[in-house]
Amino acid sequence: MSAPAPFCATCHKPSHLCICEAVEALDNSVFVVVLQHPQEKRETLSTAQLVKLQLKNSLIRIGLSWPSLKRILGREVDYKKWGVLYLGTAKQGEQTPEDEIAVVDRNGRPVHGGDAILANLEGIILLDGTWSQAKALWWRNPWLLKCQRLILHPHFRSLYGEARREPRKESVSTLEAAAFVLAYMDDDPEVFHHLMQPFQLLLKKMRQPRPRPQRIQPATEQAGAGQTEEQAAETAVVDTPIPVADTPAAVDKTAE
Ligand SMILES: [Zn+2]
Repeated sequence: MSAPAPFCATCHKPSHLCICEAVEALDNSVFVVVLQHPQEKRETLSTAQLVKLQLKNSLIRIGLSWPSLKRILGREVDYKKWGVLYLGTAKQGEQTPEDEIAVVDRNGRPVHGGDAILANLEGIILLDGTWSQAKALWWRNPWLLKCQRLILHPHFRSLYGEARREPRKESVSTLEAAAFVLAYMDDDPEVFHHLMQPFQLLLKKMRQPRPRPQRIQPATEQAGAGQTEEQAAETAVVDTPIPVADTPAAVDKTAE
């Protein structure tokens, strides 16, 4: 007797939630790096692997810290041509432009010529994890401070809203963030819809009644063992809350 493999080896979802049929990789021109907190990969709703599957020019690194972006990519990098999704909100002030994507300075203030900076980016970096996990990644990788900081003002409602409670209204999944930035840079809304297909299928499958064979669930595999998928989704947390922040100034000090 052999139990079916509980997880798809390709998309890393539980077998009954496999979304591989909806994957269609895009030949993206702006490279995407996902830095994933080690604990995040257990989440059913995690979208980092979907980013990797949907984008030919992307990679995921799982861990807490890396000495440099050069080490991650294995080549020289010009940090000014790399954007990181900033874990902060744009400063509210006399001029708070609601650009869909803003490039901000170390104080969270939108910089002039943001669109030109965006147009020059060769890659973006996304931190994948809960808010506190993403914050840990930010703190432990001071080279991130050398990158351009991007803040998103998504005009769509995160699909997470259907599956689990968002901690903040602007929180979006890692896949949504990547899709949003790439669509914006290509000025092509279709890019966004295309990239979201596997995630939409995932949510659709999660809403369907779950097949109930005797399922052996390793206790170490899921924190929510014994829960239904729905309950697990309820208690799960959003993978990458963007943007959010409290102490960017304090972070800055560590690097300078
Ligand atoms: Zn799969």
